[in-house]
Amino acid sequence: MLGSTWTSLRTDTRVGSSEEASLAAVSRLPGPVADLWQWQLDGSCRRENPDVFFHPEGERGPARRSRDSAAKAVCLGCPVLQSCREHALHVREPYGVWGAMTEYEREATYTPAPGFPAAS
Ligand code: SF4
Repeated sequence: MLGSTWTSLRTDTRVGSSEEASLAAVSRLPGPVADLWQWQLDGSCRRENPDVFFHPEGERGPARRSRDSAAKAVCLGCPVLQSCREHALHVREPYGVWGAMTEYEREATYTPAPGFPAAS
């Protein structure tokens, strides 16, 4: 999920908080080279309400599925879906729909750390 509002979400209070385990893997982020971020300028979500892509606290069940589906519908028409998905998987974005995948769908693709069971 991209755009100016999205950018502020990325730098919100989670950064530097005690929830560091829930942050994107900052060390995996591309460097400050504009070409590496250029795809974000073409994201369809830049014209959408960011609330569609990030669940409010406590959202569950049908409301969550409906919001996720609406976000995925935007993604499926997005010209940079593949770049977005690759980015989200690479940096392990912990929140929101990126590249038509929810955080849970992304988590399910990650290789578990030794000694930990795979996500279900
Ligand atoms: S794939 Fe979805 S989240 Fe990614 S840039 Fe496109 S619309 Fe935004």
